[in-house]
Amino acid sequence: MCDDHTLVRPGLPSTVCQICADPLGRDDQWVLQSYGDRRTASLDPPVAGICPDCQPAVAELLDDWASVPEPPVDADSIAAGYARVAEDCSFCGDPLSEPPVGVEWYRAGTDHATPPVDRHHYALCGHCTGVFETFLQTLGE
Ligand SMILES: [Zn+2]
Ligand SMILES: [Zn+2]
Repeated sequence: MCDDHTLVRPGLPSTVCQICADPLGRDDQWVLQSYGDRRTASLDPPVAGICPDCQPAVAELLDDWASVPEPPVDADSIAAGYARVAEDCSFCGDPLSEPPVGVEWYRAGTDHATPPVDRHHYALCGHCTGVFETFLQTLGE
């Protein structure tokens, strides 16, 4: 049986890569998780697994984004937590006039002692959420 620390938070969410649809290994997948709430839309799907082959294409884009601190857990919603730590959109850099969509990007795997690793947080404005969604769809075509 596994010890608790070998379980990946919040569990390996996907069985196939969101982009290429290849089966995902248990040990090495990247997770893209987005948090909207009643005021915002989240990405569709809100949780996506990305295989190691597709990871560089996504990471290359995210490298250019401005990451935000880890959001507080005591906000009304996770998205509201992102609104608290982010002033500007991670993608376009415009001030966030509306609640952002929170995006979490991390590597999940059963071989990591303290998952998740390489974890980053971003906050997107509504416009950039749509742009990012289109980008992910385009990668998969
Ligand atoms: Zn893939
Ligand atoms: Zn933006």
